[in-house]
Amino acid sequence: MSLKLYNTMTRQKEEFHPRENGKVAMYVCGPTTYNYFHAGNARMFVVFDMIRRYFMYKGYDVRYVQNFTDVDDKIIQRGQTEGMDPLALGQKYIEEYFKDAKALNLLPATIHPKATEHISEMIEIIEGLINSGLGYEVDGDVYFAVDHFPNYGKLSGRTLDDMKAGARVEVDERKHFPMDFALWKKAKPGEPAWESPWGLGRPGWHIECTAMSLKYLGAGFDIHGGGGDLVFPHHENEIAQTEGYLKGEMFARYWMHNAFLTINQEKMSKSLGNFFTIRELLENSPGEVIRFYLLGTHYRSPLDFNEQNLVMAQKGLERLQTSIRLAQQAMDRKGSSKNERIEAGLVKAAKEAREAFEKAMDDDFNSALAYASLFELAKTMNGYVQENPAYSEGLAEAQKTLVELGGVLGFDLLHPAQVSVEQDEILAQVMEVVLQIRARSRLKKDWEMSDFIRDAFKDTGIIIEDTPQGARWQIKK
Ligand code: AMP
Ligand code: ZN
Repeated sequence: MSLKLYNTMTRQKEEFHPRENGKVAMYVCGPTTYNYFHAGNARMFVVFDMIRRYFMYKGYDVRYVQNFTDVDDKIIQRGQTEGMDPLALGQKYIEEYFKDAKALNLLPATIHPKATEHISEMIEIIEGLINSGLGYEVDGDVYFAVDHFPNYGKLSGRTLDDMKAGARVEVDERKHFPMDFALWKKAKPGEPAWESPWGLGRPGWHIECTAMSLKYLGAGFDIHGGGGDLVFPHHENEIAQTEGYLKGEMFARYWMHNAFLTINQEKMSKSLGNFFTIRELLENSPGEVIRFYLLGTHYRSPLDFNEQNLVMAQKGLERLQTSIRLAQQAMDRKGSSKNERIEAGLVKAAKEAREAFEKAMDDDFNSALAYASLFELAKTMNGYVQENPAYSEGLAEAQKTLVELGGVLGFDLLHPAQVSVEQDEILAQVMEVVLQIRARSRLKKDWEMSDFIRDAFKDTGIIIEDTPQGARWQIKK
């Protein structure tokens, strides 16, 4: 079946046709590394990771590039306030990125290029732009002349006149036109700086993505992605400078943007200070729960953050994990089911779940709807296991399908993260009471009740053993 995705450039869902058969080349604008990343950034990383995994599931060979902006004004400022070399600060938060990324089960990119390692490529492009009249130097700074690029504004749907009228742009005598943006910035004392034909300086923000995407994916690659805040000016500027440099050749075929994670309806952002870092959230919730929460809403719909919703997400994920566990326990038993009607029902449920899952994902990666197909299959499996707790081929097929589809969204349903400490404590308290009830029934020589309790727990995976020191319980490994 064909896959459709929403292209910000054309403002409609389009059928996906790759540049090269069987391959997908994607570039996603990664973090500016001056802090731990927050849940809003995480939404972007998780969404594009899910998109990448679904392409892989469809059989594409995906080349996925996600950069690190490891030099910029904010990094320099933060370095100065912390008394740390800004470049070292950037490296530190790159390392921290990988720790949180692992907790969220983000696949490492095929390449994670760093801006500071691609300065010469950026200089070459800036020189090309100056040579073709699209860039100009003013006393060590270089700007891009937006009014020399036809169609400036095509991604965001703005015209230069709107921009001039709408924005209260500070008058900058150095620029030929108020919307012109910096390709290269002259170094200020104490800032990290590189040699260039225009003296010591550092790149403007946008140029790094042009240099790194062209280097690793080439012109006309398939998907360029990022959060919705990047449409303007970042991606608009990337298009202008790249297509200007390429003399009109297309930069990227499809532009995809996720909606914001908000907090009290306001964008979660580092600059507003209204954010939770993933590092903080991981103290109370496993990464898989945060991921489950973030993918529970379609990526183009806003998602308002509150911790209550994380708890709901945990319950949802646990429902799927429990189905898998109960099915496994049933299948580990001796004997097998020979009921052909039930067998056929399970095989059919697995097939229908896969179809519904693919239909949802083929429609612009609707992970929220894809969840519904997983819950439906889990429900069918639970019903079967309750009635007929034994191995069956149909159950094995259903379980395999649920694990596989969960995996496409980045969840390892067979190996849940540790249950939370709080839940462990509650379980211990409950089991203490259970053992006391059982001890009382034994005192009354009510062996039937005592055995019933032991056997009933065995079915849920908890083993009760009588030892000379009294009864003990443990979870079956
Ligand atoms: P930054 O580190 O601020 O450059 O952001 C890294 C990525 O996260 C970019 O693609 C942003 O568009 C994205 N992003 C930032 N804030 C949010 C948010 N609140 N919701 C969704 N995506 C965001
Ligand atoms: Zn970018």
